[in-house]
Amino acid sequence: MTEVSSRDVVVIGGGLAGLRAASVAAEEGASVTLLEKQDRPGGSSQLSAGMYWTAPDLASYRRRIPQGDLQLAERIIGDYEPGLAAIRATGVHVDAEATDGVMGFGRGYSFDVKTYLQVLEEQLRVLGGEVHTGVRIRSVTRSGTRRFLLSVDSADGHREIHAHAIILATGGFQASTAQRAFHMPAVGADILLRSNPGSEGDGLDLALSLGGAPAGDLGTFYGHLVSHPVADFTPDRFMLYSQYYSNHGILVAADGRRISEESRGDEILNQDLAEVDGMRGFLIFDETVRSTYGVSEPFAHFGRVDRFAFAVEGGARHATAPTLDQLVHQLSDLGVDGPQLRKTLLGDTGVSSLARRVSRGEPPTVHQLMKLRTPPFYALEVQPAITFTLGGIAIDHSASVLNSTGERIPGLYAAGADLGGFSNYGYAGGLAPAHITGTIAGGSAARFAAVAPHRLSHSLPQEQMAPAMEGTSSC
Ligand SMILES: Cc1cc2nc3c(=O)[nH]c(=O)nc-3n(C[C@H](O)[C@H](O)[C@H](O)COP(=O)(O)OP(=O)(O)OC[C@H]3O[C@@H](n4cnc5c(N)ncnc54)[C@H](O)[C@@H]3O)c2cc1C
Repeated sequence: MTEVSSRDVVVIGGGLAGLRAASVAAEEGASVTLLEKQDRPGGSSQLSAGMYWTAPDLASYRRRIPQGDLQLAERIIGDYEPGLAAIRATGVHVDAEATDGVMGFGRGYSFDVKTYLQVLEEQLRVLGGEVHTGVRIRSVTRSGTRRFLLSVDSADGHREIHAHAIILATGGFQASTAQRAFHMPAVGADILLRSNPGSEGDGLDLALSLGGAPAGDLGTFYGHLVSHPVADFTPDRFMLYSQYYSNHGILVAADGRRISEESRGDEILNQDLAEVDGMRGFLIFDETVRSTYGVSEPFAHFGRVDRFAFAVEGGARHATAPTLDQLVHQLSDLGVDGPQLRKTLLGDTGVSSLARRVSRGEPPTVHQLMKLRTPPFYALEVQPAITFTLGGIAIDHSASVLNSTGERIPGLYAAGADLGGFSNYGYAGGLAPAHITGTIAGGSAARFAAVAPHRLSHSLPQEQMAPAMEGTSSC
């Protein structure tokens, strides 16, 4: 039997962006339903390290992400403090400010993200909001400029939900092989997934089919280099296998050449390696790097871990040698072009011929090689991993989805990792932007619904529903 209901706002996706959007919309008086594809809300947000961070100011943002969306950045950076205050106001634990620049340049605070997600869900329910998990959205149809009809399946049956506003917060398209092949053809198809499995691009698909435009470089993504092979890449080990310190080593492909300027950071090397045929490289570093950066905590409360040893225990191909010459011999046995690797270590900075597209940064310098000084020397085989996509849906400062001519699509909003262009090859955080854009989207959607000409009551008999459909999309 089909259950028919009507809500002011329907939120699709129950990560930090979706839960925050839903809770803010409910606080503003809207009737809200949140739909989550998986058995419980949380998404990648609940797998995360809980570092609430972004660029400290617009100038550093511009330096780090020259192709980023400045207007969006201005809004996110401007709303950073109020976002933090909102988290603190719930009583959820927030650490003191991180003293080292997060990811080399950001400002951030570690917070108890898991508890915060529960608090948001609880707030939503207390305010009368509904949460449905395990849902499959069959279709979303437009009915006039101020109504949508969602056709939704879940374990407890089929639902039709009429809504004034929809907020897309499905967390990006990284988990869909088909969407990756379509939107990021330069990235190898079998890239390792370092994310929740539900973020399959449903938000982007819906936005595009309802007239929305894409924004940012859809070929770019956030993630980290992970050791290879890795037999047990479960979410509790995502961070343990990540080689955050790769900016202190040198990264070579099978042809013995460097692929990138390593000092630009692991999240950049990760994207560059994804565009190398075969998507494998060896990260080479010395004892100083292993015993300092290689064991340090990437985020507060993480604990020190010897990442090289952990990767080797997990099955990674590797080499250890007292001299660079012997390391080259061992890497030749592992399939690396030895003569070329020797030349590379002597200062040949040519970029790997296996790279499909290496045009987004400056070429490698010899400076990095000076760091290979203290024996023993190490090499660890690595592969790229994708955490979330950086290109996505175009929005304005009110989180309204925009069409290709920059006009708002009435009632359609997007938040979190579904957005495109804030980070764009360069990276400036995931949780804070999700929280901030979720806040904006929730408020905007609630206000849109509040001025709707015939505000929907919470349950209408089926015959009172508007039959005229202007467009249909499904995911
Ligand atoms: C290991 C790891 C560590 C990280 N650490 C940090 C960190 O410390 N700091 C930081 O800033 N960022 C971090 N990130 C990134 C951060 O987690 C993400 O940027 C952020 O969680 C995005 O939030 P979101 O709400 O947009 O997406 P998500 O939290 O991924 O939520 C999206 C939700 O939408 C659901 N969904 C998808 N499709 C549908 C559909 N059709 N219907 C219903 N539901 C759907 C998904 O199942 C998912 O639950 C980390 C990520 C990982 C994986």
